[in-house]
Amino acid sequence: MPDTLSQSRSVRTTCPYCGVGCGVLATPGPGGTVSISGDPEHPANFGRLCSKGAALGETVDMDGRLLHPMTWGRRSDWDTALALVANTFTRTIAEHGPDSVAFYVSGQILTEDYYVANKLMKGFIGSGNIDTNSRLCMASSVSGHRRAFGADVVPGNYEDLETCDLLVLVGSNLAWCHPVLFQRIQAARAARPSMKLVVIDPRRTQTADTADLHLPIRPDGDIALFAGLLAHLDRGGFRDDTFVSAHTEGLESALAAVPSDLDAVSVATGLEPELLARFYALWAGTEKVVTVYSQGVNQSAEGTDKVNAIINCHLLTGRIGKPGLGPFSVTGQPNAMGGREVGGLANQLAAHLAFEKPGDRDILAGFWNAPATAAQPGLKAVDMFRAVARGTVRAIWIMGTNPVDSLPDADAVREALERCPFVVVSDVMAETDTTRVADVLLPAAAWGEKDGTVTNSERRISRQRSMLPLPGEARPDWWIITQVARRMGHGDAFPYASPADIFREYAALTVHASAGTGRPLDLGPFAEMSDGNYQDLQPVQWPVAGTACNPEGRARMFGDGRFATADGRARFVAPASTAGAPVHDGLVLNTGRIRDQWHTMTRTAKSPRLSTHYAEPFLDIHPEDAARRGIAAAAIVRVANTFGAALLRARVTDSVRPGTVFAAMHWTDQFSSRGRIDALVAPRTDPFSGQPALKGAVVDVAPARMAWHGFAVMRHEPVGIDAAYWARARTPFGWRVELAGRSTPADWTDFALRLLGVADGHEAELATYADAAGGHYRFAHVSQGRVEAALFVAPGPVTVARTWIIDLLGSDDEAAARDLLAGRPGQGAADRGAIICACFNVGINQIEAAAAGGCASVEAIGRELSAGTNCGSCRSEIGRILRHAKVDDHADRALAG
Ligand code: SF4
Repeated sequence: MPDTLSQSRSVRTTCPYCGVGCGVLATPGPGGTVSISGDPEHPANFGRLCSKGAALGETVDMDGRLLHPMTWGRRSDWDTALALVANTFTRTIAEHGPDSVAFYVSGQILTEDYYVANKLMKGFIGSGNIDTNSRLCMASSVSGHRRAFGADVVPGNYEDLETCDLLVLVGSNLAWCHPVLFQRIQAARAARPSMKLVVIDPRRTQTADTADLHLPIRPDGDIALFAGLLAHLDRGGFRDDTFVSAHTEGLESALAAVPSDLDAVSVATGLEPELLARFYALWAGTEKVVTVYSQGVNQSAEGTDKVNAIINCHLLTGRIGKPGLGPFSVTGQPNAMGGREVGGLANQLAAHLAFEKPGDRDILAGFWNAPATAAQPGLKAVDMFRAVARGTVRAIWIMGTNPVDSLPDADAVREALERCPFVVVSDVMAETDTTRVADVLLPAAAWGEKDGTVTNSERRISRQRSMLPLPGEARPDWWIITQVARRMGHGDAFPYASPADIFREYAALTVHASAGTGRPLDLGPFAEMSDGNYQDLQPVQWPVAGTACNPEGRARMFGDGRFATADGRARFVAPASTAGAPVHDGLVLNTGRIRDQWHTMTRTAKSPRLSTHYAEPFLDIHPEDAARRGIAAAAIVRVANTFGAALLRARVTDSVRPGTVFAAMHWTDQFSSRGRIDALVAPRTDPFSGQPALKGAVVDVAPARMAWHGFAVMRHEPVGIDAAYWARARTPFGWRVELAGRSTPADWTDFALRLLGVADGHEAELATYADAAGGHYRFAHVSQGRVEAALFVAPGPVTVARTWIIDLLGSDDEAAARDLLAGRPGQGAADRGAIICACFNVGINQIEAAAAGGCASVEAIGRELSAGTNCGSCRSEIGRILRHAKVDDHADRALAG
């Protein structure tokens, strides 16, 4: 199976978004375009792609790309920029020591990039100060695995999630966050209806909607839930005595820490004893059970204890390392796992060597011939930026991530970077909230242009291959780091001419590190592989064996009861507490992802298709909490605490628990006036993993009194929007803007001319409707029968047919344009409503009409409208619409449709 398919010019590569790690066939076309399909031979997805992966072709254009090095705000050249970075880091280290500098890298960069960044910082600068945004994603799983198994190893694989009899998802909205894996599970359930799905989540997510049992647990009730399960299993006679006595340690202390009884678990979890008993009986009585955990477990100040509470139950029953059973962590990012393997975390060394294991540091220093290799862990992400704020870190290099938006206490992170003497940012985009505070900008190669490997959630290494030329002066991250290393005087240790050179060295290090220790991370056959074999490398799970070109990876670990601890035994770990979270006066803010956006939207917001699903930042709030605060559906609300404030659109919905609210983590200053939700998250971290509690902020929510609300569409990119609240998103033919203001403009026509960009001399093209007494204004700029822009203003949330209006920008239907000021299509014309299926542009109105016409299932809707028949990411939402007949969140319709 060659990387480039000879007949079609298609290149086999992998998706750059979530940790499922789907294989992609990318076919370059004219003008730098790329057409995308799923790779039918990749074992992660077998041809499937979700909406984000399927829209990759819409994100490879040059719009907004950083194409040249920049120093101090001016265009520079590589020699000048690299010398400036190398000299400034060298001088800072000479004057203030190696710990005065830091790298903050990303699960978006490739394993080869990670490897050289880690080698430069830990090996040759001699500091542990390299950490990654994967700290925000799965660091608690790493800590939990290392405590229980002795190494950071995911025991099972995706197939186990299909072949188990009971799948338990803990803190995981798999339907939206790992959609292809979810589709695999749904297909397995359809083929084998006896397979049960339990979802443990404070929210009734799209995933929970499809579950056989949903446990709407209190935030941070997970330890109590699984400690209670451990007690139930032990008392109920479900202990695998043979396995426990032969292969584990520490059960007594774990059992000593379990809650006293079911009532105590009920209090800590907020779940009725009957519901708990049902779940416990199901788990206990099903041998083939897989427990999947994700960000809802990891992003907590008790995340590591949560992971171990789950693993404890699998160890007690011996349900680990065999087909169809075991604990399973799904990572958020495409290469979070690769970064873990090469030491991208500040508290780990490359190749699973450990700071705390005697001799490990010397093994690494010897292999690299780097006597200065760090002997102590460096600063984890939150502490790293605190050190920047204190001035103890004086030079920082940020690669492929956007900490000004994604870290907790994000406003403080921005202030720290603004004060930092030297900030370098490598990125593919010129304008992000982090590039704005950089002294030096280095143009990095983007997906489609760079080459290397990534590792997905099931330990599977896949190639990411280039199919596009490097644009402008963009360069791969490994090349940039290597050039800086050479200019810092370490040329001998950084001789790399290609990612294959780096991969071979990394593979050789794994052999060196695992020799005589049995460390599972072993890429032995790859240490000598040729460039051609690297180019043709097939997806493979580590540890690997066999030949370099066709290695056979190992699908499961620990099935023989032999773990990676010194004595080969797994460890039960007693949690520090099973009491659950304290009760707060404020609302507990849960943050997370939506279906069609990725991280801080630098890439996915380029896609009009992906921008249709949710076009503005929102807050889900329970009807009781909303009523208590006088918050109506679709109102603009101010969400605030001592750390920061945000303005979001309220979605009043009982999908969240009373006392909790939910907001997506994606919006930045590039796309909204005040949507950076992580500015409100306290920098509270797990004591073992350092992972921040991104789902546990406490906030106040109140209506943000707005004098007017608006909705606008336009062909040009809107900038400098003059409104207290705004959010902008791309559409197929331009942009859409939601906006609201605290004070009414003195002259609405003047406001509309400016917002809509009507050029001087074209004022007569602006058609106007004004109801000054009622506060309703409508403006349509139609030139030569073509809609150029429109603005709709109302005293409350604007309710017009948004999708129809957006479509008019691309239409030459003059009759429809004449209806524009009405805000709704004329008789006989259709309004699709809010787009649910991004692949086929199918709206909620069409789905509801089909349902009213007799389509009673997702499959029937698919047959009628094609919705849900391509990537499948919208299938759970279609199911929800069918069940509720109408979508339950008024805001969905008011805002999108
Ligand atoms: Fe990409 Fe979607 Fe696959 Fe994740 S599930 S790797 S986002 S295509």
